[in-house]
This record gives sequence, C-alpha cells and structure tokens, in this order.
Amino acid sequence: MCAPFASPEIVNYRPRLMVHRPMRSSFATTPARSRNMRAITSTNNRSTERKIRAHLAQLGIRGWRIRFSELPGCPDFVFPAARVVLFTDGCFWHCCPRCGHVPKTNTGYWKRKLLRNKRRDRAVNRELTLRGFKVLRFWECAVKRNPEQCLRRVIRSLRSRSS
Ligand SMILES: [Zn+2]
Repeated sequence: MCAPFASPEIVNYRPRLMVHRPMRSSFATTPARSRNMRAITSTNNRSTERKIRAHLAQLGIRGWRIRFSELPGCPDFVFPAARVVLFTDGCFWHCCPRCGHVPKTNTGYWKRKLLRNKRRDRAVNRELTLRGFKVLRFWECAVKRNPEQCLRRVIRSLRSRSS
C-alpha cells in the first residue's frame, strides 16, 4: 500500500503503468496506437533499468531496491541508507527536451497529457524532497548515450549523503 501523500495527484501516480482511460467523446488516439506506445515505453524502460542494474552490480553498489511502490512516484531505484531515489524517465512520456515530441495527430490531447505528466513529476520531486530524499532523474536517452556519466552522478550522490 502507498503511504499517505500530500497531493492526491501523487497518490494516483502510476508512472510505469500509464493506464489510458478511454475518451468519453471523441477518440483521441486509437487503442492500437496506445497499446503500441505503451509496449515501446515499457520495453525501453526495462532495458534502461537493466543497464543501470548491471552497472550498479559491476561497481559493487548494493542495498538498493527497484520499483519501490511505497514512495511517491514509485521510484525505479531507491537507496534507503543514503535516502537517494532514482527515476529513469522515458523521453516521450516525460517530455525530454532533447528528443521528446508531441504527436502530430490529436495534438491537443497529447499536449494536455504530457503536461500532466510533467506536473506530476514535479509534484513527486517536491514530495520526495520534503521527505528528505535526494531525487535523481535520468533521461532514457542519457542512460543509453552515456551510462557511465549517469552512474557517476549516482555515486557522487551516495557518497555525499553517507558522509
Ligand atoms: Zn531524450
């Protein structure tokens, strides 16, 4: 079960499930397309996660948990001792400034949806920070491009928080 959160938005936040509610009036997107995008997202996120896990293991960093649902936003990685949380953000769903985009069809629907995601991310960050966590967010493309740099940031945070 989720712990009580300050914002109801956070309570309902399920970043990796991305449940699409069917639109009441017109179809904003086709079910097939939604399914397809969800599949892509979850595969990408799993492979990003695996990459980070492999690096953590290689570096001998232990004591972390994955997809920790008892914290707001269900962080992909939690380092409880150092109180550091790590999210790997999909570039599309979390609006990466480098490679995020708004689909050309049903633009209004997507704009609203993506904006909501961004707001939720910020609310989650605030809530976790209030609880004394250091929040790290890595873009999926950054982990692909330069996993070592991402890991260096993790190590820096862990060190600075455990001294
Ligand atoms: Zn990106």
